[in-house]
Amino acid sequence: MSFKELPIMSDKQKGALLFYPYISKKSAQNIKKVLSTRWIGQGPGVDKFEKKFQQIFSKKNSALATGSGTDSLHLAYLLAGLKKGDEVITTVFTCTATNIPLLYIGANIKFADIDPMTMNISIDSVKKLISKKTKAIVCVHYGGLPCEMNELQKLSRKYKIPIIEDAAHAMGAKYNGKPVGSISDFTTFSFQAIKHFTTGDGGMLTIKNNKLLKKAKRLRWFGIDREGKQNGTWENDVFETGYKYQMTDIAATLGYDSLLDFNKILNHRRKIFKIYLDKLSKNKNIICINDDDKKKYHSAWLFTIALEKKDFLQKKLREYRIETNQVHFRNDRYSIFKKFVKGQKFKNMDFIENKYLVLPLHHKISSKQAVDISNLINKII
Ligand SMILES: *Cc1c(COP(=O)(O)O)cnc(C)c1O
Repeated sequence: MSFKELPIMSDKQKGALLFYPYISKKSAQNIKKVLSTRWIGQGPGVDKFEKKFQQIFSKKNSALATGSGTDSLHLAYLLAGLKKGDEVITTVFTCTATNIPLLYIGANIKFADIDPMTMNISIDSVKKLISKKTKAIVCVHYGGLPCEMNELQKLSRKYKIPIIEDAAHAMGAKYNGKPVGSISDFTTFSFQAIKHFTTGDGGMLTIKNNKLLKKAKRLRWFGIDREGKQNGTWENDVFETGYKYQMTDIAATLGYDSLLDFNKILNHRRKIFKIYLDKLSKNKNIICINDDDKKKYHSAWLFTIALEKKDFLQKKLREYRIETNQVHFRNDRYSIFKKFVKGQKFKNMDFIENKYLVLPLHHKISSKQAVDISNLINKII
């Protein structure tokens, strides 16, 4: 893959930036308190954040805080029992972070095409790739729109394989009224700077089989039973290769404070999303990436449009200091994934790859700005 993107926009002048980190106003004060205690690394703040996250998003599933979304994905793959050579079906269109931990494991990646209207994994494509050798299916709720979970769950039951949801875009999304995080065997979240809210860097893994929680905690911390060690009951043996994937109490404080603000964050994002959708779906030269399926409740992380004159629009908007970008790119173009492709065609990905563009959507974009940006786009295109 070789093409250049527009540089990111400077934040020194007024304009509409594509992303902006969300930090609760309470956090500076609350972190100051944490800094004067003994627990700045993983301590009671992490437990408190996990408990609150579980109440809101994962319900009966366990919630385990990690150092990043990527850490959570790697842990999910390990806990799903994936090993070298195992076939895993995953989407071709996502942040590379979804698929890179499959390389750590040495899994045999099978890329599925996307549905061009939602840019989520195509169920037809998954069905064509699935076989007795398939050990897991990974899906990504692109932009915050849930995938076809009923269909994926059916395949999961039929082939007795786990579904791993990468929900880095989908905090607050629901399917059939159930929050994303409470549905599948494993679900991962990210609190990286540009996500719904941030902990600097951080992630969450939710796990359906609560019996795996102890192992998950060991893998998060060198293979050590940390609770047992702190209670003086640990036998002091490390029998599996663990990682250093924990969250710190400094980060968890940011996370907990933002969870208290979460309804406000989500409602604002959904409001901006709806303004773009109402105004831009009237334009016949523009496709809004979305789905009217009533089972799906959108978490409005990204608003994406598709159009023939994508480059023209992007450059024009930049003249008005409105930042847009493609954000994620098809993974089969990257050299690290080439060996898994072998001439395979991705018809829908091919169709949309030079057409999609993500518009600014975050807590600092006002309704008026969203109206103005939409009107401007409708004027240009
Ligand atoms: C952000 C993101 C990740 C990675 O999360 P990190 O916290 O940056 O490791 C994974 N998958 C998707 C789809 C993402 O957007």
